[in-house]
Amino acid sequence: MPISLIQPEFKVHIDYDKCHKCGRCVQQCGWSVYSFNERPIPDDSKCRACHRCVTYCPAHCITIRKNDLALRDNANWSPALRQGVWRQAETGGVMLTGMGNDKPYLSIFDHLLLDACQVTNPSIDPLREPMELRTYLGRKPSAVEVTSDGNGGFRLAEGAGVQKNIKLDVPIIFSPMSYGSVSLPVHRSLAMAAERLGILMNTGEGGLHADLYPYADNVIVQVASGRFGVDPEYLNRGAAVEIKVGQGAKPGIGGHLPGEKINREVSETRMIPQGSDAISPAPHHDIYSIEDLRQLIYSIKEATDYKPVGVKIAAVHNVAAIASGIVRAGADYVHLDGFRGGTGAAPQIIRDHIGIPIELAIAAVDQRLRDEGIRNQASIIAAGSIRSSADLAKAIALGADVVAIGSAALMALGCHMCQGCHTGSCSWGLTTQKPELTRRVDPEWGAERLTNLVSAWSHELQEILGALGVNAVESLRGSRERLRSIGLDEQTGRILGVKPAGV
Ligand code: SF4
Ligand code: SF4
Ligand code: SF4
Repeated sequence: MPISLIQPEFKVHIDYDKCHKCGRCVQQCGWSVYSFNERPIPDDSKCRACHRCVTYCPAHCITIRKNDLALRDNANWSPALRQGVWRQAETGGVMLTGMGNDKPYLSIFDHLLLDACQVTNPSIDPLREPMELRTYLGRKPSAVEVTSDGNGGFRLAEGAGVQKNIKLDVPIIFSPMSYGSVSLPVHRSLAMAAERLGILMNTGEGGLHADLYPYADNVIVQVASGRFGVDPEYLNRGAAVEIKVGQGAKPGIGGHLPGEKINREVSETRMIPQGSDAISPAPHHDIYSIEDLRQLIYSIKEATDYKPVGVKIAAVHNVAAIASGIVRAGADYVHLDGFRGGTGAAPQIIRDHIGIPIELAIAAVDQRLRDEGIRNQASIIAAGSIRSSADLAKAIALGADVVAIGSAALMALGCHMCQGCHTGSCSWGLTTQKPELTRRVDPEWGAERLTNLVSAWSHELQEILGALGVNAVESLRGSRERLRSIGLDEQTGRILGVKPAGV
């Protein structure tokens, strides 16, 4: 067998003086890095730096280091590019990867700063004053009719034109992640947490497992081009239906679930054969125009007694025009996924080089819908690397109603961003269907950690709102005046609708 030119990316170091020789590292590693011959022996070439063994080693004697093997400096040919050429020369294949774009593109969120109140418009203490984080997902009427309630108050008139909205206790939901790409305990953790938090999880394009039926009020069921698991019963088992047109990590291409991840339960849930690859095509074969999309939206509405129907798209160059068409087609929300969005599996070349930042997409879409007088007709969900409550607040100030978190949710469950999701061997039991790995996630434990994360961000959002002197998250939405940019060029600032700091 010819020798590989690719050197290991990481070095696994074991301090054998401290090692108990218990073999736990052998058992914990999903990628079979270790063999055991009186003591654990690592094969560096298989290590993905997922840190499962490090976390579970009782002697704390494992260290994972970057392989500091020197390559001659070359500002044009980075080591990663050279490795890519060697790998493709060996395999002749498309390089797959998992999680989001890790290239050092500018992070716009990191160049935006929020305002705070000082003297004349006082800040609010969120510990002592009510601070409203509740928001509603869906179409809002331009005007409503009210009638007297007979007690000096008012109530909505019959047929006041109010359409079904979904109440969210906080403006955060869980991103679409399909059963198949993630394990069932992950789905159960997300559903349980969504119920406790009064928010939503999203099935992704993978059908709905029977274990999740009790969480119908907290689930968005997705309809993707593969139509996996879609029938009228499925559509009615969620609070809303989402048509997936695109995904931030892989705009313009379809989905691919490797056959190794399709066990009996996944196959039944997704209504696909066991063990063979599930490919969702790039386009929906019944959508070639906004009129086609409108037909699908209204078919789903008819089938579900007019539940909210949203459309998810990847953030691409003409995202504002696409979003406008989607709203005019009758969607109740537009879900925008930026180029940093995560994925279970994507060609690396697509993930790293297609799409636009979510910050620009939110601002462009919000502005376009306002300019056209249709902003009230649909909510905006923003996703694609929302990393903290600061990103959340900035996304809302740019114009989003709600953010969706996927990578952060998986990190709450143990993910260490090793980017090996496409292999189906996740040591943390998240993006795998191997029973010996999936059982590592206890849904009760998972739900508690997810609930903690979202609660912590919600408290921080209240602090931010207090500092801004507003007492409701709805008052922050689209308030770009409360943002300032630092280190962004003029044109980017113009698209964002944000002035430079100091002005
Ligand atoms: S888990 Fe730690 S202590 Fe146990 S065999 Fe592996 S390195 Fe040694
Ligand atoms: S892949 Fe993860 S569990 Fe396996 S050796 Fe590397 S860090 Fe440890
Ligand atoms: S989900 Fe698992 S495989 Fe994917 S990046 Fe996280 S730790 Fe790695």
